[in-house]
Order: sequence, then C-alpha cells, then structure tokens
Amino acid sequence: MQTQKAINTFVKETGGWVASQLEACTRCGMCAEACHFYQATGVPEYAPVWKVELLRRAYEQRFTVSGKVKLAIGLDAEISDEDLLKWSSYVYHACTVCNKCSMVCPMGIDLGTLIHDVRSGLAEAGVVPADLAAAVQKQLEEGSPLGMTDEVYADRLEWVTDDWEVDIPIDKEGAETLVVLSSIEVMKFPQNIAAVAEVLNAAGENWTLSTKAREVVNFGFYEGSHSHTTLFLKRLLDQAVAMGVKRLVVTECGHAYDALRWTAYNLMDIPDSLEITHITGLLGEYVSSGRIKLKGGAFNEGKITFHDACKIQRKGGHINEPRQILNILSPDAFVEMTPNREESICCGGGGGVIAIKDADPVRYAAFELKIDQVNKTGADTVVMSCSNCRLQFTDGKEHFNLDWKINGLTQMVADALAD
Ligand code: SF4
Ligand code: SF4
Repeated sequence: MQTQKAINTFVKETGGWVASQLEACTRCGMCAEACHFYQATGVPEYAPVWKVELLRRAYEQRFTVSGKVKLAIGLDAEISDEDLLKWSSYVYHACTVCNKCSMVCPMGIDLGTLIHDVRSGLAEAGVVPADLAAAVQKQLEEGSPLGMTDEVYADRLEWVTDDWEVDIPIDKEGAETLVVLSSIEVMKFPQNIAAVAEVLNAAGENWTLSTKAREVVNFGFYEGSHSHTTLFLKRLLDQAVAMGVKRLVVTECGHAYDALRWTAYNLMDIPDSLEITHITGLLGEYVSSGRIKLKGGAFNEGKITFHDACKIQRKGGHINEPRQILNILSPDAFVEMTPNREESICCGGGGGVIAIKDADPVRYAAFELKIDQVNKTGADTVVMSCSNCRLQFTDGKEHFNLDWKINGLTQMVADALAD
C-alpha cells in the first residue's frame, strides 16, 4: 500500500474550493439521515461527513495551524495504512456517490464530490476493493468491465438484429447521432438494444452505434482514478469527434452520463459542437415534438411506479420526461413513490457498489428501504431509466423474492410505439 500517494492526492485535490467546503462544515450531522446506507444500518462511520474525514485530516494537517499543532502534540496522527483500509470500505462499499446528502446540508457542501476525491486518493494508493479493481483491469484490457469484447459485442448485435427483427446501424458514415450502450444493457438486458433501435428508427434519427466507441460504462470513474476515467472517456469522445457526429447519446446508465456530461469537461477539451445527452431527454424530445407517437394507455394495468436515478434525475434533471411518458402510457396506473424526483433515495447499487461482492450485505440493507417505498405505493411494476438501477432491482427482486415486474423506460416506449 502506498499511503503517501493517497495523502499527496488528498493534498493535491485540496484547492480553494475543497478547502472552503471542508471549512464550511459545522458538524451538525444532518447529512447522516439523508444517506440510505446510514439509515439502513445505523453504522456511524457511514455518515457522509465521516466519509470525507480523511480528506479533512490531510487538509488540516498540511494547511491549518490548528491541524499542525494537533499533529505535533499527538492529538492527531498521520493517516495510516489502517485508515486507508477502513475508509476504502466506507466510501466504496457504503457510498453510491448519489449526492442525496448534499441536498440536506445546510451549508451546501457537495459531499458526493468530496467523497469522490477520497476515492481518488485511495485509487492512487491501490486501496480499491478487489472486485472493482478487477473490473477496471478488464475495461483496460478488453474495453469493457463485463466481458463485452469486440467479438461478444458483434455477436450480441447480430443476435438482437435477427431475433428482434430490427435495423441497427453500425459505423454508419454521415450519422449525426452516436449512441453508446452500457455493457449492462448489452450483456444483461439485450432487449434494451432493440428498444433503443426501434425508438430511434421510428423517430427517423440519423444515428449509429460504433464498434470503436462501444462501452459507455466507466469503471475508472467508479474507482476515482483520473487517469483511467480520462482514458475511458477519450475512447468515446475521440471516436465521436472522428465520426463528426453532432450528438452523443448515453443510454440507460447514470454514472456514465455523469462522467460524460460533466466530469469529461474538466478533464479534456470537448468541441462545443458536440452535444452530450441522455436517452431519457431524447425520449421526452421525441414525444413532445411528435417525432414518435405512443399508444395511450398501453400500460394501464395494475399500478406502476417510477424510480428516479441519482445521476439522471437528481443530477441530470430529467425528471419531467419519465412522468410525461408514464402519464401517456399508464394514466390510471402510474403512482409516485415517496420521496420522489430529486429527493428520491438511491437504489443502493450505484457508484460501483453492485460490483463489490463484500458490499452485498450493506447493499441489500439499503435496498430494503426502497422495497418499503415501493410497497407503500402498492405498485406491482417499477420503471427506471438506468440499467445499473435495473440490475440492482432485478437482483433485489430475486434476493428478497419480490413479486414485482421491473421495466426500463426506453423499453416501455419501444413497446408502446404506435404503428
Ligand atoms: S453520496 Fe449518497 S451514498 Fe454517499 S454518503 Fe451521500 S447519501 Fe450516502
Ligand atoms: S450536513 Fe453539512 S454541515 Fe452538517 S455535518 Fe453534514 S456536511 Fe457538515
């Protein structure tokens, strides 16, 4: 373990903005109750403010008189190997970087970003959970953390094209819109590939997939490594620029959308002419403009609720589009969960947590909060616009033997396209 590398990274991350965020904290503890992992377990170390403690200690010890004095007289100690191991479990196992905590902080502290900075230090020191580190390695070597190699990608696309009888343009010259799928969709929910294609074809979009830019998931971003995050982003953005597309559409993956839509702009130059958007926004645009027509009431049986994803709805602001669509498809069946919209709680599987086997107990504990919220609506179907959430709900359904249907928003739109 290279503890000094972590400390150096914490210090490097601590510019004026981070310092002002750390200084602003009044230690009121209000963020704790907002965190689904803290709520579900009551473990004090899962309080968001405690998750950023290593960053605060590094800052105080290097940049404040009180921190230097505390260190000199033994009231604080240098960050140790043991500290890094403990915080690795707090920030990777019990944080989805959902940023719900920052919404309740009276000082407006952006805890999610600070926790991501803690992950960056741990990544530099090599204290990333083994499963996550292995997934990063796979993405480095094979281009995908879920084994979606070039051959597997080609096979899956051929299979979907044949079985769903849908036209899927690949490496189309002159395309204006590049769609990049998540390997969760390709490997676990292939029906989503067909759904995306059916909707874009129905809208008359001049679009394509790319064999070079084929994986939107970014495990470097989960890990917190700037170099890996940048490398995986560049694979997509360089290809988008080379193809001359006007728009890059992220399909149903929330963290990938966060990485491309916001983080990428801090890591590299992106041409102003390239729009980066999420499929949820595109669906709303198509419906509003009449580019696609839906069969009203196509899903009007039972009760249907919508799970708001942290990165797509809370951060991305695509809150109205799913409701606009569900009010067409399920006017009598659609019911809201509480809390909802930007106040929604995370499913518990985001931020790379679902990839870490040792995090399963805390992940399932957090999901029980979601079960309770869904059950209170009486819904038998839960819809979402993130395939990582969909994976968590699908796994949770099996683990807890739930009698629910899980569906993706794009999938529903595709199934309800008017002839
Ligand atoms: S970002 Fe989300 S998971 Fe992480 S500490 Fe805050 S509320 Fe908890
Ligand atoms: S809510 Fe904000 S001010 Fe209060 S402890 Fe948490 S981070 Fe600090």
